Formats: sequence, structure tokens, C-alpha cells
Amino acid sequence: MGSLRVFSTLTHDARIFVAGHKGLVGSAIVRRLTSYGFSNLVLKTRAELDLLDQAAVRDFFREEKIDFVFVCAAKVGGILHNSRHQADFIYENLMISANIIQAAALYDVKKLLYLGSSCIYPKFSPQPIPEEALLSGPLEPTNEGYAIAKIAGLKMCEKFYTQYGKCFVSVMPTNMYGPNDNFHPDHSHVIPGMMRRFHEAARGGASSVTVWGTGSPRREFLYSDDFAEAALTVMESYNEPGFLNVGTGEDVTICELAFTMAKVVGFKGEIIFDSSKPDGTPRKVLDVSKVKSLGWEPQISLEVGLRLAYEWALGADAFSLSPESRVVQVPGV
Ligand code: GDP
Repeated sequence: MGSLRVFSTLTHDARIFVAGHKGLVGSAIVRRLTSYGFSNLVLKTRAELDLLDQAAVRDFFREEKIDFVFVCAAKVGGILHNSRHQADFIYENLMISANIIQAAALYDVKKLLYLGSSCIYPKFSPQPIPEEALLSGPLEPTNEGYAIAKIAGLKMCEKFYTQYGKCFVSVMPTNMYGPNDNFHPDHSHVIPGMMRRFHEAARGGASSVTVWGTGSPRREFLYSDDFAEAALTVMESYNEPGFLNVGTGEDVTICELAFTMAKVVGFKGEIIFDSSKPDGTPRKVLDVSKVKSLGWEPQISLEVGLRLAYEWALGADAFSLSPESRVVQVPGV
């Protein structure tokens, strides 16, 4: 028996392809669809379907008769990995986007939802960032390859909508966290990276833990299940060529995050801020008024979300896996 919500665009017998279903975002969308009783999900591992292979992607869409697509597959990574592999990031993300979007158009997909990321906005965007800020200034150089490819994907959806009438729309999620996140000690984003460090400090009985930067930068965080609900809302009721920001619209300092993390993980020692590590941009928060006007609101507070993510990480043994064995599949840079 699924949770209660009435759907009209997404029908329960529809064939729904979630590309990237093993990652942070894709897995959250699958959980949410399943909880609403959608059972006709089409999920393919990388070994079963190589999204970089145009012919394979076309064959897949021709044979599978897909009705709806969530494009959660992307090559993603933290700032260091991203900046050192920009050729791979631009090539793979362009190919994944172009192959899926074009084949979806060719084989009559009814609606497609593409994922951008708040890190593809210009480096010096107004805060909170409105949708209109896209392409209004230079990008952050360290992730230019990734950003150019994702912007191309967003624009492909828009152009297929206006030229061919294909209902292909996009969302721009803020920093997300939750189950299936990447807990690599150095290559991850702040929540899983910090969670690992606090966990190891608490378990090891350390008297202090070090947090990167001054603690003053402000960031917005969204639990992946809240995002999944927003993605379903956009799939249901957003029908124009373009995209919508998805976030909480509220930000916290890294210092506040660290104290909440200590509470969740049970670390009682001293928190030291290492100002020799980069702070990055001082503030990053999205203007989410448009998506909220569709009736969506985030439900999970930062503390509750951190507790859920921590429970998942403990259950999945995410802290004890060797860094190399973690698949990096987290959108957002
Ligand atoms: P950003 O939002 O693109 O800057 O990406 P991050 O999530 O990597 O970093 C956000 C902020 O958290 C930056 O100011 C970091 O210096 C700070 N931070 C504190 N501790 C950590 C950590 O363990 N890992 C990461 N990635 N960032 C951290």
C-alpha cells in the first residue's frame, strides 16, 4: 500500500526510467516513487546500459517504451577531483545528457526531468540566487567543464520543448545530502566529509576535531527525500520550457553545521576551525519562491536530516569502506 498523493501526469502504470538510480538523488526518487505505489520502474546499472553509448541508449528507448524519465545520472565529484578532470567531466556529462534527451524525444517520452545543480550558476550571482542568474556571468573556473556540460543539458531540454513541443523540464537543486552520499574523506562535500570526521573523532575518543575553513561561510542544505518530493511535484505540474530552483531557501553557517553535527554524532570535544583550508564562496543559497508556488515545501529540518543520514551511513558501513571503493555519484559541486 503506497502513501497518499493524487497524481495525474504520472500514471501508476507508466513506465518510468530513473537514470542514475544508485546515486544520492536517483535512489531518493526511486524510494519516493515506490512509496507512492509506482511499480513500473525501469532501472539499469552501468553494466546493463552505458549512457555514453549513443546507439545503446537509442536501442534502450526504442525497446523499453519509456513514458517518463528522471535524468539523475551524471559524472560528479568534489572540487579537487572536478578541477583535475575537467575534460572527463565535460565529455561524459555532455554525452549522458545529449544521448538521453535526444533518444527520449525520438521515442516519444511523455515528460522528462533533467537535473542541473546550483554550482552551475555564475561565480558572483546575487544571493539568494534567482533562476534568471543562469548565464549572466563567468563560471567558477574549478568546475567549468562540469558546469558547461550541465548548462548544455538544461538548454537542450528547453530547445526540444520550444522547437518540438517536448515536455522536457529541469530543476536546479541546492547542496543535497542523504543515503548513498559519497563519504570519501577528502573528495566529498561538507556534510558527508564532516560527518565522517566527527564520527571518527567520537568513536576514537578524540578531544578535538578539525573543520575546514573559518566556519563563517553560509550554505543551504536539502535532504534528498525532500528533493525527491519536489522532483515529483515538478514532474506533475511544471509545464514550461525552463527550470526551477529546488532548495530550502535558508542557509546556515559552517560553524552552525559543525555544532549540529557534533550533537547528532555524539561528539563532545572541542571544534577547531582550520582557516588554512579554503572557505570557498561566502554564501550560496537559492531563491526558491517559484518551486514553492507549486505547493512544495521541505519537511525535514537539518538536524533530523543529519540524523537520518547518519543512521544510514552506520547501517551501510559507509565510514569503513576504503575511499577508492566509493562510487562518486553526488550532484552538486
Ligand atoms: P562548496 O559549497 O562548493 O564550497 O563545497 P563544499 O561542500 O566542499 O564546502 C562547503 C564549505 O564547508 C567550505 O567553506 C568548506 O571549507 C567547509 N568545510 C568544512 N569542513 C569540510 C569538510 O570536511 N569537507 C568539505 N568538502 N568542506 C568542508
